[in-house]
Amino acid sequence: MNNRNYSIAIDGPSASGKSTIAKKVSQRLNIEYIDTGAMYRAITYKVLSNNIDPLDVQSVTDLLKTTEIDFIDNSIYLDGTIVDNEIRENVVSNNVSYIAKIKEVRDKLVKLQQFMSRTKSIIMDGRDIGTVVLPNADYKFFVTASVKERANRRYQELLDRGEKLISLDSIIADIIRRDEIDSNREIGPLRQSEDSYVLDTTSKSIEESVNYIITIVTGGN
Ligand code: C5P
Repeated sequence: MNNRNYSIAIDGPSASGKSTIAKKVSQRLNIEYIDTGAMYRAITYKVLSNNIDPLDVQSVTDLLKTTEIDFIDNSIYLDGTIVDNEIRENVVSNNVSYIAKIKEVRDKLVKLQQFMSRTKSIIMDGRDIGTVVLPNADYKFFVTASVKERANRRYQELLDRGEKLISLDSIIADIIRRDEIDSNREIGPLRQSEDSYVLDTTSKSIEESVNYIITIVTGGN
């Protein structure tokens, strides 16, 4: 790796472990981490907080015009307020795929993501990073895991956050539904680009997955 700026794109389905892995890689390589899922979540949180129906495209689009999203010191700001915790609530997870289908939402966020990656080395994770946002990324990874493993991880995460208990079966159903919507939407669907490395985290530790990426990016140096 030389001194010029470089970009790493990480795509994959929900709860595949990509955010945890991307965050750790960013710390090890000392580059910025951009969590694009958090941006879709922030808009969803605002929509729900304003009692707007996520399926009401016109109202969501109107709200978008007065919505500002930014990352400062790894926190996400929605209209100037940190919403790191609020965007992880289950009600946001259950509605975010509807918001992420809307063309105006994607247009705005993709532009913002491209702008954020222009002047520094970054690792960005999402669903359409290697295909749409950064098609010329220096390194592309597709991070995946079995549905059962992903559901178990989400279950544990909700338990740790002290959210009221929901059954594992309902989490499995939610993950399958989200995969379906994310993979089949018209714009920016979840898709593995041909030039990406596939990383299946089902039976890998976080450390092993992080090392896999770092070895490829640094060429083993
Ligand atoms: O990565 P995370 O699970 O937090 O993403 C939440 C949702 O945001 C996804 O289920 C997907 O609907 C949407 N998303 C997207 N494009 C991205 C990142 C996330 O559509 N680049």
